[in-house]
Amino acid sequence: MSAPASTSSAGSGKKRIAYYYDEEIGNFYYGAGHPMKPHRMRLAHHLILAYGLYRQLEIYRPSLLSEDQLTSFHTDDYVHFLQHVNPDNLPQYTMELSRYNVDVDCPVFDGLYHFCRMYTGGSVGGAYKLNKKTADIAINWSGGLHHAKKAEASGFCYINDVVLAVLELLKYHDRVLYIDIDIHHGDGVEEAFYTTDRVMTVSFHKYGDFFPGTGRVQDIGVGRGQNYALNFPLMDGIDDANYERIFRTIMTKVMENFRPGAVVLQCGADSLVGDRLGCFNLSLKGHGGCVEFMKTFNVPLLLLGGGGYTVRNVARCWAYETGLALDTHMADELPYNQYYEYYGPDFNLHIQPSNMENLNTPNYLHKQETLLLQCLKELPHAPSVQYSYQPPRDTRFEEEEEAARAKREHENMRDVRIAPQDMDGQISDRREFYADDRDQDGTTMPSQFVPQLISGGAGKPSSVLATSSTSLPAAIPGASAVAPAATAVPASSVGAAAPASSSAGLPSLGQAQPAFQPNTHPTAAGAPAISAPMAAPAPTNNNMEL
Ligand SMILES: [Zn+2]
Repeated sequence: MSAPASTSSAGSGKKRIAYYYDEEIGNFYYGAGHPMKPHRMRLAHHLILAYGLYRQLEIYRPSLLSEDQLTSFHTDDYVHFLQHVNPDNLPQYTMELSRYNVDVDCPVFDGLYHFCRMYTGGSVGGAYKLNKKTADIAINWSGGLHHAKKAEASGFCYINDVVLAVLELLKYHDRVLYIDIDIHHGDGVEEAFYTTDRVMTVSFHKYGDFFPGTGRVQDIGVGRGQNYALNFPLMDGIDDANYERIFRTIMTKVMENFRPGAVVLQCGADSLVGDRLGCFNLSLKGHGGCVEFMKTFNVPLLLLGGGGYTVRNVARCWAYETGLALDTHMADELPYNQYYEYYGPDFNLHIQPSNMENLNTPNYLHKQETLLLQCLKELPHAPSVQYSYQPPRDTRFEEEEEAARAKREHENMRDVRIAPQDMDGQISDRREFYADDRDQDGTTMPSQFVPQLISGGAGKPSSVLATSSTSLPAAIPGASAVAPAATAVPASSVGAAAPASSSAGLPSLGQAQPAFQPNTHPTAAGAPAISAPMAAPAPTNNNMEL
């Protein structure tokens, strides 16, 4: 299949795109039957390669963040725990596992801390590039883990890379906008910035008997943050036309009234039709329409991944949205790639909406819109930012990034990773493959498509999780029993080592000096912004004071 992608004629507004990807990310494994599959990032990346989009991207491997950088938001003891726990020493951490909500949804798996540093490094690295104006758009599809709290894992998320990326952007921008189109409420990010007017969070999500249970339209922020947290609760079956309309209506007003210096868009793909955990009816066009629309504002834009549990559609979605960022038309017929068999039976890029009922009546949507527009009316135009706290500029990341860049330039290596011979997909983890059977509409993949396995991979799922996130997950056997002994080793010559055991080669503890002091003042007790009682997120001490 030749030249499946072509640059659109309207290419005058061409953006510089920094794209973050580490071939190792697809090797991490949450456990048998767990719906979160880092393998999906590898599928997305291979579509991006096969479409030839990589030629227009600046591809970077994320720098791994240090413990100090992670504690800009998270507590020292929580990060310390993530750093040291592994599937073999779980009995030593009984108390902590419970305290930090690390269990079935958020299991301890081999290389967990390395995984956290990697996905977070892409998001913070992207923010850094936007700050330095060396990119107009930065993409990290492995990021967007929006549920993680200051000292708690939640909803498959451990470290909140979104919060850390926003903090990075706040070093250079007075106001940062966070938008979340994952089907789940962006609770961890909202909570972190619930009391500040420097960050506006806007989340479109399913609400009602659905994880995480927060995100009512009445929850709008408190104190100085009042009206700076917006929530559009939706019901099952929202379709492209309605979603795009409400998104455009709300975001137009947000951009007019808030005027952010940078925008972070979490593109969770579980809002697509047919998602294993979701219940919306969006096609790639409806979902990607949000990316297209935000791009028109010409504000530095950080695109992140997030949820998404039907892996073939997640890959389609993020490849398509990479093409949208590049203004590049992509043929509907998928180009052959390492994981071609995932995309049958049609082997097309686009997916079709289903005939499911849209439970969001025009009346319901109009009511929510009206309430949100009312909040936006109350914002001062171009809010004057009063700095109660100016984050100290932490130059460590900049120094590391500069050093890495200089090294790459010196070695003339920057684009080595995009060379076809360096593609990482020579292998896959068989456990992913078996688990993914459940994402192939019950069909089992033909054995000839089973990728070669170099190591590990003896485990098979003993159960499949419930498909409702409110009843997640059914039963994963003891984490140590399902944790892989070793992950598959990338064949790529530029690949880093496979994830080491989580205690190897880690920075020493005890020197951490968090760059940002989290708010220690309880805010929930302060005057609530609305007359209705505040439901969760009950942001007692999880938010940032800026
Ligand atoms: Zn989600």
